[in-house]
Amino acid sequence: MEYIVLDLEFNAAYSKTRHRFVNEIIEFGAVKLDEQLNIIDKFSELVTPQISKKLNTHVAALTHITIDELNQSHNSFSHVMSKFRKFLGDGVLMSWSNSDILVLAENYRYFFGNDKMSFLKYYVNLQKYCQRAIGYTDRSHQMGLAACAEQLGLGFEDNSLHRAYNDAELTAECFKALYEKELLKEFIFVCNDEFYARMSFKNYNICDLRDPGVDRREMYFNCDKCGRRAFRRTKWRLKNKSFRAVFRCIRCRRDFEGRIVFKRCFDHVEIIKKAVDLEVIEKNKQYKTVKKEKV
Ligand SMILES: [Zn+2]
Repeated sequence: MEYIVLDLEFNAAYSKTRHRFVNEIIEFGAVKLDEQLNIIDKFSELVTPQISKKLNTHVAALTHITIDELNQSHNSFSHVMSKFRKFLGDGVLMSWSNSDILVLAENYRYFFGNDKMSFLKYYVNLQKYCQRAIGYTDRSHQMGLAACAEQLGLGFEDNSLHRAYNDAELTAECFKALYEKELLKEFIFVCNDEFYARMSFKNYNICDLRDPGVDRREMYFNCDKCGRRAFRRTKWRLKNKSFRAVFRCIRCRRDFEGRIVFKRCFDHVEIIKKAVDLEVIEKNKQYKTVKKEKV
């Protein structure tokens, strides 16, 4: 089995015919690894934009790609796509987070009118894989590629990032450093109907306590200091999409705010709990008032 690690650069392009923004791909970069994880082939292609002839300033600054370069490449999306399909073959497509595969699907739909990429057989989200392999547990933030590479002691130059090929190569290096045959199996998705449903599903925080995704049995807090079950003193209220209530630990004579988020994902609900000292909340409030007074 071969692994193809893909990275894309894209431009926020306004389509006058569809009256909406499209993430138009302007560069493909990929490396192909054999079963022993040796790099056996490389792919690097610019794409001449067809939707917008102007590059977003953020994209231009980040990638240092110019519109002239893109125009001179004389490479349409369909042309690059057919080359990439050959490059991919029956291999496993991999990318860092699912944003690139979503953008690939978006361009495929825009230019070919197909919702599904029939040439795609298997897919791995390497961000999810690497997070698990490295033991990353922060559920409120995703691990960035640069952060992962740094943690693994992989050298890279800041100015070489944000070009498709370099990013693909660095992603492949992270994968190689964290490769575990058995673990990888859990992360290989067959690209069937469920895969597309899963990919396009957007996670959201549940804001209604009556939602079946809210498990009331989980709505408790233990004291941070002594570990005992704390008593809830107030009703639950909703703020910033998290349910909040004041809790008290009888033993420590301490009040704190318990915050709980129920995040609806494709096939499960993720529960994120956080206890915040009331003093900290008070201080922040005071700080905000002082700032307002100064204004
Ligand atoms: Zn306590």
